[in-house]
Amino acid sequence: MKSYFILSLLFVSLMVTDITAQENAEIFKFAVGSFEITTLSEGQQKSGSSILIDATSEMIDKYAPDGTFPSACNAFLLKTPGKTILIDAGFGRNLFANLKSQNVTAEEIDIVLLTHMHGDHIGGLLHHDGKIAFPNAQLYIAQPEHDYWMNIDSRGGEQARNVIKAYKDKLQLFVPADLQNSTTELLSGISAIAAYGHTPGHTAYLLKSENSQFLIWGDLTHAMAIQMPHPEIAVTYDVNPGDAVMARKKILEYVAKNRIPVAGMHIAFPAMGNITESADEGYEFIVKN
Ligand SMILES: [Zn+2]
Repeated sequence: MKSYFILSLLFVSLMVTDITAQENAEIFKFAVGSFEITTLSEGQQKSGSSILIDATSEMIDKYAPDGTFPSACNAFLLKTPGKTILIDAGFGRNLFANLKSQNVTAEEIDIVLLTHMHGDHIGGLLHHDGKIAFPNAQLYIAQPEHDYWMNIDSRGGEQARNVIKAYKDKLQLFVPADLQNSTTELLSGISAIAAYGHTPGHTAYLLKSENSQFLIWGDLTHAMAIQMPHPEIAVTYDVNPGDAVMARKKILEYVAKNRIPVAGMHIAFPAMGNITESADEGYEFIVKN
């Protein structure tokens, strides 16, 4: 009986070790000057090519031959010398376990920057009882994003409005800069860049520290496998597909030319890499490792 008990303890501790290892596999860190960015994975998946608008059968055959492509949901933790910042909050699925694994408590988050207010980006902001999950954080939302959700009537809109209401004393509304004016800083070393289209206030964040730059581009892409070679392909989730395509083309050209590494909320783990022009067609994504 005693040895059985010891054996089960051993088994439990092995399982715990295993879970920790899995958590670590959802974490990836990258330094940008004195900033540190960490990928907080909310999960990896395959998405179906039916979300692609006007993709030809040639494109599907070449880049998603089984009709699917790798996809993911991520949030990012950004540590600057003065602030602990969360960029988007995912579904709220693995978010708190991932933060804990980085020894960061919800109370220690000073700032939450939102790229936009879809449910897979704001899910972690409220607890099930409707209370705010980050009690000491200022919540940054682009003014056009805020206005869009306050003025539409849908279930998605309700979730966004609940967040806005719950964080009403902590809201920081701002107007993102054009890519050409990216020197305008929202916070020290952080510029908000207009990348409208996926949603009317969709925002990317350009980080600058010690001569290094890095762009967190939110939902500029949902299907890297297709939208890198073919940035002109939009997805059914885009509120304004035409604008989303224009924003994607403009930003891809800029980061490729200026060799700025990027991270995205729906890029497969580790969700960070470099963009280069492809010798074949469009762009290529070179994964960081
Ligand atoms: Zn999304």
